Amino acid sequence: MTEGSEQAEATAADKKATARATGKATGRATAKATVKETAKATGKATPAAKKATKATPAGKKATAKATGKPESHLAMVRRARKIYRELGEVYPYAHPELDFRNPFELLVATVLSAQTTDLRVNQTTPRVFAAYPTPEDLAAAVPEELEELIRPTGFFRAKARSLLGLSAALRDRFDGEVPGRLEDLVTLPGVGRKTANVVLGNAYGVPGITVDTHFGRLVRRWRWTEKDDPEKVEADVAAIFPASDWTELSHRVIFHGRRICHARRPACGACPIAPLCPSYGEGETDPDKAAKLLKYEKGGFPGQRLSPPPDYPGLPAPPLGGSER
Ligand code: SF4
Repeated sequence: MTEGSEQAEATAADKKATARATGKATGRATAKATVKETAKATGKATPAAKKATKATPAGKKATAKATGKPESHLAMVRRARKIYRELGEVYPYAHPELDFRNPFELLVATVLSAQTTDLRVNQTTPRVFAAYPTPEDLAAAVPEELEELIRPTGFFRAKARSLLGLSAALRDRFDGEVPGRLEDLVTLPGVGRKTANVVLGNAYGVPGITVDTHFGRLVRRWRWTEKDDPEKVEADVAAIFPASDWTELSHRVIFHGRRICHARRPACGACPIAPLCPSYGEGETDPDKAAKLLKYEKGGFPGQRLSPPPDYPGLPAPPLGGSER
């Protein structure tokens, strides 16, 4: 590359950076306004909406970006923790979105949740749990009957094999109990770190980070990690937060991924953490269009659980065959 072309490229890049910074600052201000509007429309002044009325560091951040200074690790950690706190205000009721009443049910539901939605699993498991309430019952199931019951979750033959194998292992090696240690859980057929962490965090109160598709996508958008491998993502994020935050962090991030920061069209223009997000603008920034992308319980959408926790502000999900919005 010649010096002249380098200069021209640098100038073009500067212009782009300035445009980006200005666009982001304006867009973020508008995003906050939209959150306020959404709250008005739903008749509830959410903490996020209240925050939107306060002065934000968006302008300051945009200026820092325009200088092209890379973010230090410490600054990223502070920003990450702030995102965690703000998500706590947006989703104070964040929770695991699989219905379960004991560790065994959660283990079964988590195995079934591969490659499908929690909603579809929750619509399927009532009949599974009624037919096979214990590991002994499930280990003795007729494979074809089990396959038929879990068919709506997809990949039902492989999932049936895992469920039969893990139930037999629970019966034979763990006295019919789900073990409360990661190293034991991952020895069960069809159980990897993600499933083990879900069970540990939500059935046993042992801190765990759940790197599912939403979690991986969002933490990469937030530059908490650049890795794709779930185990490496887990390690990078674990280094940012104290263990006591891991399980709750997983819920808040997954909630945000399902409701606002979608895979294909994130609703940036209606996102309450836009001022803290380096990927602002990856999705829809027009506030009105972004507001229409929200899949939010406070907008009247049913959640994933047929039996949500008592503090859940939305509607329970409908049973299989019921109407889904
Ligand atoms: S990418 Fe957009 S929707 Fe996702 S967190 Fe950032 S600003 Fe919010």
